[in-house]
Amino acid sequence: MRLYDTATRALKELPPPPGPVRMYFCGPTVYQHIHIGNARPFVLSMWLKRWLERTGYDVTLVENITDVNDKIYAAAPGDSARLAQDASGWYVEDTSLLALGRPDREPKATESIAEIVAMIEELIASEHAYESGGDVYFRVASFPAYGKLSGRHGDDEATRNPSEEAEEGELKEDPRDFALWKGHKEGEDTWWESPWGRGRPGWHIECSAMAEAHLGPVFEIHGGGIDLVFPHHENEIAQSRALGHDFAQLWMHNGMLRLSGEKMSKSLGNIVSLREAVERWGRETLLVYFLGGHWRKPLDYSDEVLRQAAAQAESFRNVFRQASEPGGDWNVLAAALDDDFNTPEALAVMHGWRDHELLPRALEVFGLESLVEEPEVPAEIEKLALAREDARARGDFSAADGLRDDIEAEGWEVRDEAGGYRLVRQR
Ligand SMILES: [Zn+2]
Repeated sequence: MRLYDTATRALKELPPPPGPVRMYFCGPTVYQHIHIGNARPFVLSMWLKRWLERTGYDVTLVENITDVNDKIYAAAPGDSARLAQDASGWYVEDTSLLALGRPDREPKATESIAEIVAMIEELIASEHAYESGGDVYFRVASFPAYGKLSGRHGDDEATRNPSEEAEEGELKEDPRDFALWKGHKEGEDTWWESPWGRGRPGWHIECSAMAEAHLGPVFEIHGGGIDLVFPHHENEIAQSRALGHDFAQLWMHNGMLRLSGEKMSKSLGNIVSLREAVERWGRETLLVYFLGGHWRKPLDYSDEVLRQAAAQAESFRNVFRQASEPGGDWNVLAAALDDDFNTPEALAVMHGWRDHELLPRALEVFGLESLVEEPEVPAEIEKLALAREDARARGDFSAADGLRDDIEAEGWEVRDEAGGYRLVRQR
């Protein structure tokens, strides 16, 4: 099994099964329902976990929830703790709609403060960090390998930590330095006491501390969106390796989702929530859609692409409406997945299979085993179909056509067959 590693810019072999494979993926900052782009690392990590487990690996997947942050304070001034708690619940509910299972552990930053403070204390003791005006900053000059992951080394504008959080430039020794702890500010309703006074952790240290708390000082895979390479992951590496911890051995970064050719992001306002997408297209279509894009590449989100995915899901259902045709080689599928987890190729392989034993086993890896079963027809759709039969029997074809349209508007297609009709779900 090999995967592309951002750090070495090459494919890297995983240790042979059973591993272990310990994985940490950066989860969302919670202040509203997550968008479909945020769902991509979740889907990727769950599929990778499922595949590795089925190939004999001992996998532990940790995915954090960032529940203290400037964005959360800004979204609910004075009441951010409650918003963060509600939005953490929405995140779990929304991603559970995909029915892929859950990561083994989902730590929250607010429940990991002791580990975070301990790590900051170690960094100060070893002179990799310093206290300044109630904040604590990482001293980038003390870590010569800084910039290796992202290829950003120089002291230029791009290296000045365009963090997702505002920082007090005048408190830093060096513009590249980044906050590990931030002193409490007026109006912030979430804070903890610390050796540096009242405050709360910076975003980057949360992930170093939570990853190490749950997986140890060295683990196999760290993942997240490609937009996290710099500064977030660069800073995680600096914090952990400055303390002599080997940290992640392989860095996986998934491509962004694009809406009308632009990166989907909350700040651009061009977002579709995961919940809306599941309600509109159904989980099976969404999962087939994600399968169709290589995890490292950008993926366009549009009605047209989703309609194609719906048609692909339907073509799998059609296989199970016909007789099984034994044949197909599991090893071909395994080779595609073991070579940088190439799901578009795996999808193409599965489309070539008509074997009612083999295909469900493959679909199950991706949470798509439900495509085997004919979905249950809701009573109201059945009623419309029967009314259409009556209209046809009376020779009232315009009424029959109208009823067909009503059925289609509900996402079902009525197919006339010898001796009656059949209802087929379209999405
Ligand atoms: Zn993170």
